[in-house]
Amino acid sequence: MVTENLREVEKRVQMACERSGRRREEVTLIAVSKTKPLEMLREAYEGGARYFGENKVQELVDKYEAMPSDIHWQMIGHLQRNKVKYIIDKAELIHSVDSLRLAESIDKEAGKKGLIANVLLEVNMAREESKFGIMPEEALDFVKQIVRFRNIKVNGLMTIAPFVDDPEENRIHFANLRKLSVDIGKEKVNNVNMSILSMGMTNDFEVAIEEGATMVRVGTAIFGERSYAH
Ligand SMILES: *Cc1c(COP(=O)(O)O)cnc(C)c1O
Repeated sequence: MVTENLREVEKRVQMACERSGRRREEVTLIAVSKTKPLEMLREAYEGGARYFGENKVQELVDKYEAMPSDIHWQMIGHLQRNKVKYIIDKAELIHSVDSLRLAESIDKEAGKKGLIANVLLEVNMAREESKFGIMPEEALDFVKQIVRFRNIKVNGLMTIAPFVDDPEENRIHFANLRKLSVDIGKEKVNNVNMSILSMGMTNDFEVAIEEGATMVRVGTAIFGERSYAH
């Protein structure tokens, strides 16, 4: 199933790119494999997937060790400071930086390993109380403060839009995230570029692409529904 699903999602990504006059290479499809077994990841890998997203530290580490080494692992979930050390050299990009204290831990662990951590700032565009992320109006100030961490490079913004029946309802949040990234980009802050916009999931990735997403994070449409019951 994964092979067919992946092909179908790929087709939809391509069509959304065409509709919005964008090149397919501008959008990276991240296969969100959280809770799913290795066989399914291998199937996606065989089907061409090279970007995988996980939201739990232990799971990312286990899968990192079991899967081929040319995968670009993406940490997309809320990250606890004491766990940064386990993924700092495994996740190519951390999408979910939402506090200066977390940034400080990332900076410290990256420094210990002699590397520069690539991160995105998670912004709570819809101001949902249940969600992590900084508020849009705090983002610029946040970016200015994060430059003091020498081992961190900010590459853009990420948002998790609300769960809605009609993806069109989220268009405004995607458009606003894009505007925010343009505004921050204009400030020309050191070590900060706004080249990545990580937005759009199974329910709304096409709208997100139309609004400028450069990374879409798709789980269910590729791997099927998740069951958290064990
Ligand atoms: C689970 C998850 C996704 C994928 O969600 P689907 O609706 O299954 O596509 C995307 N982004 C984040 C941050 C997630 O936790």
